[in-house]
Amino acid sequence: MNCQEMKDTEDPRRLAAEICAADHQAFWHLAAARIKWLWETDTPAPSGRVSLGRAKRPGGLLRHFSGADFIITLREDTWADLTDGQRWALVRHELLHCGVKLNKAGQPMTAAGLPLPRGEGGEYDGEGVRLAYIVRKHEFEGFLAEIDATGRWTPEMDAAHRRWRQLMLPLSGEIDKDTGEVLPVSAADHLSVRILRGEEAMRRRSPRTGRGTARIAKRDRARAGG
Ligand SMILES: [Zn+2]
Repeated sequence: MNCQEMKDTEDPRRLAAEICAADHQAFWHLAAARIKWLWETDTPAPSGRVSLGRAKRPGGLLRHFSGADFIITLREDTWADLTDGQRWALVRHELLHCGVKLNKAGQPMTAAGLPLPRGEGGEYDGEGVRLAYIVRKHEFEGFLAEIDATGRWTPEMDAAHRRWRQLMLPLSGEIDKDTGEVLPVSAADHLSVRILRGEEAMRRRSPRTGRGTARIAKRDRARAGG
């Protein structure tokens, strides 16, 4: 695996800082977390599914030498192909994997094994606190063929279904003049719409290598040719 550490001025890290600052409730526990961000620069293995990124909690010697609570790796080639909304959604997704351990009463735990008290305003504050970090798993996973055949058959799939339906409500009220469709209400909605309709992702220039421009030219030539 070939990797390169991101500078703090690079887009994913700037996005992560914005996302954490804007949503204290979801990300308060990352205020003092040491997160290392890496570009994975290998050419992808020829498999069906494209990996966008992953978040890991290093253990043992890797934790010691990296000094990191979490390591988030993004694929440089797939990042270059994402829209701004998709980039935002991907960074937020990986940050959601960076969790804190809760005790049976639902209280966040410190690295010393004690429950963290709430602040004066009733909110938790992660500033300057060593917390017991964990990687959070996805709350729902499954196969599209499973939805076709058996519908939503677990409480998690049911919860996901209710949220998807909520997302599809035309809350924005804005209509796309070209297509007559109701515009998506969030970046996540935008992402889901693009993926569900199988649209070709916008080809973007890679921030570091400039990769992606050849594909833009190829696509534009194909469109010009009918
Ligand atoms: Zn994930």
